[in-house]
Amino acid sequence: MAAPAAAATLTVDLDAVAANYRLLVERMGGKPVAAVVKANAYGLGAAQVAPVLWRAGCRLFFTAQLAEALALRPVLPPSADIAVLNGLAAGEAELFAAERLWPVLNDLAQLERWRAYCAEHEAAGPAVLHIDTGMSRLGLEPTELERLAASPDLLRGVDLRLVMSHMACADTPAHPKNREQLAAFRAALAGLEAPLAGVPRSLAASSALFLGPEFRFDVGRPGAAIYGLKPQEDTPNPLRCTVRLTARILQVRRVDSPMTVGYGAAHSVPGPGTIATVGVGYADGFLRSAGGRSVAGLGGHRVPLVGRISMDLITLDVSDVPTHLVHPDATVELIGEAFPPDDLASAAGTIGYEILTSLGARYTRRYVGGGAA
Ligand SMILES: *Cc1c(COP(=O)(O)O)cnc(C)c1O
Repeated sequence: MAAPAAAATLTVDLDAVAANYRLLVERMGGKPVAAVVKANAYGLGAAQVAPVLWRAGCRLFFTAQLAEALALRPVLPPSADIAVLNGLAAGEAELFAAERLWPVLNDLAQLERWRAYCAEHEAAGPAVLHIDTGMSRLGLEPTELERLAASPDLLRGVDLRLVMSHMACADTPAHPKNREQLAAFRAALAGLEAPLAGVPRSLAASSALFLGPEFRFDVGRPGAAIYGLKPQEDTPNPLRCTVRLTARILQVRRVDSPMTVGYGAAHSVPGPGTIATVGVGYADGFLRSAGGRSVAGLGGHRVPLVGRISMDLITLDVSDVPTHLVHPDATVELIGEAFPPDDLASAAGTIGYEILTSLGARYTRRYVGGGAA
């Protein structure tokens, strides 16, 4: 029996992932660049992406969650370092140590937890210290920073491998918050000069790598840019698109009289025209808010998405496409070089990050390049 035909195929270009990583290493002047592979490598597939990044020279990987780090461990060589951004919860120290994971210590309680575990087991456990310089999210807050500066012994026995902070507005170069956070990071480092002597520093995620050399410090920490998202709001994207989403036309509908398309009769075809329907919908993470506002490609022609996006279907106005190209089984490109995730995000009123991390579970996934089979 034949396998069911794929309604939609997501192709991940691992060569583009590696090329983007190498471009970021270049931005860092050859200094180490850690890769953020949280949320399944922003939806692309951490098990496929992380080994490619390792081969491109990456040695430190960040996940958000401990479970993600545990899943990543077996797909990377044993000497890969893996850090967990969401920190060290009570009772987790043993698992971190057993799997040689680095907790990102986000407050003094986590620091104390790790220190106590390391002391008890006579091991200097590697860890990352996270200082909040203006996100009010994770990381040591100013009062904790003061306490640490006054009592550097709190770090005794902890093998700090990195000190980091995270920026709020780095995609907007002119935002005053960028300089404020840079100054706050420098002040925090100065206050901890002795206990942090020789510890590499990291401030820049994707966008900050493109702000200026003073933001780069010793280790880059990008996620989005590796996956091809645009680092700066108003600057052309220097990175390659890493994903391509194609879908089969399921049915073609010639519309002769004035007719509406889809739920809510939200779109009207005024005269004779042609509607093509493809099998992708919001259940696949193709955000409903993009309905009527995005475009797709069909045989080199740009065609508008019309009407509402349904759970499993999208309708396209293909009236202007030569009829020999419009037929069931013809392939439509919904995301790709010409329709990058950032553009779809603009149409949907969100950011490229949400487009990538929403990429659906129903797509047939293909990995190309990167030495992949
Ligand atoms: C997600 C995250 C990153 C990566 O950010 P991008 O904008 O995707 O490069 C880096 N650091 C921290 C703390 C993060 O949460």
